[in-house]
Amino acid sequence: MANPFRLPMVPRALRNLASKPATRLYPTEIRPRFAGARGEIEFDLETCNFCMLCARRCPAAAITVARDDRYWSIDQLVCIACGVCVDVCAKKSLTMSEGSRHIHTKAEIGPDGRRPGLEEWTKPAPPPAEINTAG
Ligand code: SF4
Ligand code: SF4
Repeated sequence: MANPFRLPMVPRALRNLASKPATRLYPTEIRPRFAGARGEIEFDLETCNFCMLCARRCPAAAITVARDDRYWSIDQLVCIACGVCVDVCAKKSLTMSEGSRHIHTKAEIGPDGRRPGLEEWTKPAPPPAEINTAG
């Protein structure tokens, strides 16, 4: 019978038993992010003019913009964090966070079937310009 201590995997198995795990208990333990790491797209409703360029350029079709309704949305689970929308937005309304991406689960699906990860904004229409009738 072969001596088990002469088998090549036995020393490695013993070392692994005594060493720390090579993996982390994500999401309980999250690795610090590197500078320039890509997280999630963050949107600034105040500066957006609903030009729709980000939606047209997004290779994953993760952004929806309805100019007339002043509506902007992103599906964070569809976004591939390429950063194209950040680069093309002339109003600087989009930024890429360096934090970890949020965790989305099926529990977020509402009774209306709303997708987990879908984030939406709507901007109220500005008040109509006053017509100067004097003079
Ligand atoms: S490109 Fe910028 S300004 Fe234009 S719709 Fe997208 S976020 Fe808004
Ligand atoms: S980062 Fe890329 S995939 Fe994500 S919304 Fe922007 S353009 Fe689309």
